[in-house]
Amino acid sequence: MSAPHRRILVTSALPYANGAIHLGHLVEYVQTDIWVRFQKMRGHECWYVCADDTHGTPIMLRAEKEGITPEQLIARVWHEHKRDFDGFLIGFDHYGSTHSHETRARAEQIYHRLKAAGLIEVRAIEQFYDPVKQMFLPDRYLKGECPRCHAKDQYGDACEVCGAAYQPTELIEPYSAVSGARPERRSSEHYFFRLSDPRLADFLREWTRPPRVQEEAANKLKEWLQAGLTDWDISRDAPYFGFEIPDAPGKFFYVWLDAPIGYLGSFEALCAREGLDFDAYWDAQRAADSHTEVYHFIGKDILYFHALFWPAMLRFAGLRTPSAVFCHGFLTVNGQKMSKSRGTFITAESYLRHLDPEWLRYYYAAKLGPTLEDIDLNLEDFVARVNSDLVGKFVNIASRTAGFISKRFDGRLAPLPTLADTPLPAMQAAAEGIAWLYETREFGKAVREVMALADAANQYLDQHKPWEMAKQAGWEAELQRVCTVALNAFRLLTLYLKPVLPRLAAQVEAFLNVEPLQWADAGRLLADHVIQPYRHLMTRVDPQAIARMLEENRDSLVPPPAPVRHGEHQQHAVSPPPAAAPAAGIETLPLISLDEFMRVDLRVARIAAAEQVPGADKLLRLTLDLGGETRTVFAGIKAQYAPEQLVGRLTVMVANLAPRKMKFGVSEGMVLAASDERGGPYLLAPDSGAQPGMRIK
Ligand SMILES: [Zn+2]
Repeated sequence: MSAPHRRILVTSALPYANGAIHLGHLVEYVQTDIWVRFQKMRGHECWYVCADDTHGTPIMLRAEKEGITPEQLIARVWHEHKRDFDGFLIGFDHYGSTHSHETRARAEQIYHRLKAAGLIEVRAIEQFYDPVKQMFLPDRYLKGECPRCHAKDQYGDACEVCGAAYQPTELIEPYSAVSGARPERRSSEHYFFRLSDPRLADFLREWTRPPRVQEEAANKLKEWLQAGLTDWDISRDAPYFGFEIPDAPGKFFYVWLDAPIGYLGSFEALCAREGLDFDAYWDAQRAADSHTEVYHFIGKDILYFHALFWPAMLRFAGLRTPSAVFCHGFLTVNGQKMSKSRGTFITAESYLRHLDPEWLRYYYAAKLGPTLEDIDLNLEDFVARVNSDLVGKFVNIASRTAGFISKRFDGRLAPLPTLADTPLPAMQAAAEGIAWLYETREFGKAVREVMALADAANQYLDQHKPWEMAKQAGWEAELQRVCTVALNAFRLLTLYLKPVLPRLAAQVEAFLNVEPLQWADAGRLLADHVIQPYRHLMTRVDPQAIARMLEENRDSLVPPPAPVRHGEHQQHAVSPPPAAAPAAGIETLPLISLDEFMRVDLRVARIAAAEQVPGADKLLRLTLDLGGETRTVFAGIKAQYAPEQLVGRLTVMVANLAPRKMKFGVSEGMVLAASDERGGPYLLAPDSGAQPGMRIK
């Protein structure tokens, strides 16, 4: 339409090359992809780049554990990530890797410029060193006893039992999680980016305001700035997988320094391929003159890096700063954190094995807004919404009318002389309003508006009833006209949903025999035009497929992932490998007969309630539902499970154990759990289909 032509570069945060893409990651990639596809439909020049984030200690150690080089590891993970993104129709213009010569060159350039600006300082610091592994230990690789609650095997920076945060030096009996060795304290020279320099604080106070960041993010940033920024340690000692600092042998850039520089490296590779001018986007002066725009989509956990460190680095290296940083919330599934024990820690790969990617794209779009609020994937609501909106309201318009056009009119649509009694004028007039909602990332509102238009189109069909016209002679012209109106309505709805449903839109374009739909096409209608025969476009969600997906992702033997700490990159929060070696050989108890075993009455039980027991260190009080009858059981699983994690799940109990009087009450049975020196206790869970009260034998 009349909107001026824009030149836009868009990024999503770089996933870490140490794990699979899951549905939590996809909130961001789907959100960004919808926005980018919308901009392209508007006729703007819009580029979307991303890359794998490949450096750091976790990558180095994991490759070593697998007996391969870090390069081999990151090449394999790159292919897995790319496959998953393709599966979800994420349309990157370039998907690179931070381990590239472009990123290395840009990291060195930025470092040299910051140094020339007097913003790099070298300082000796003391850190824990693993004398066996001969490496300095990051906090997550140091373990020991919590100095507050004395829980064993806690990380170097925070206790997962009592929640205390502390310095690694405060840990009691520290040991290396890599080798198990007792660490030594050693001094080493580190390179710091001087964030405490007053020039940076002045710049960032101005920069961190709406509309560059959302209001809510601006408030958070203000708090951080008022508390004062401390210098940022940007170097790590060898051995390290990363880029060596140019004038400092044995010192490497910390992974968080080169991760955002990966945006530049990936875009530079795209520029080489497409003949684009890198400096028109990134040189401070040239970018201002050429009016290019740069947007980063990120999760709220990495706001600190993207709205403080990153603009400061760019600004004082003579590069442009982003036009805006768009922050989003996290994903919950059925109202709770994603959990491996509930099967809701769902990988992209496993979702794609069972379900259609456009269902999830639609559901996320319907839930997304421009705020930092978390979004919930409620699986029952997901089924209901996809089935009622996409199949019941949208696809149904075409499936109820296209057959008449093919069979009765050789696929030819009617001329459209008058539209007064049709929903089409209002649907066309909605184009700019819906565009504004996409532009401002109000995707949920955009979807609601489109579905209201779909309701109007369905009402039109219900009033005119083409299926009844088709049964009577003399109604041919009206039948053709009503079906033509309906298929035009369907075309407009497809256009408005195309950023969300790109694959379905391509199928509709083929069916309607039209060029790829652009936003400006909302101003036109199809009349006296030949379409292709209708083919089935979308099926309903089968709840059984969801049950199978959850079952596949359920892994009750793996403890939940370590909590993400404030300000830490989500994908970096990896747990180090377990320190203890697995037990060798299994010594069982003496043999028993089948009869003896059959005397144990094992039952499936639903945990109806789980509560803390005041004064008890290890116990939770469980109320178990055996299908009509309930029992109270005290279980020593407090270290492993929070009560709210347990409510509603099925487990296995011994139902004929003699009641035991305990300090806190009478325990009427026992739940089964696995444990040994490697960890636990891990509760048992039956396969889906099992019901409370069923006998286990
Ligand atoms: Zn503690």
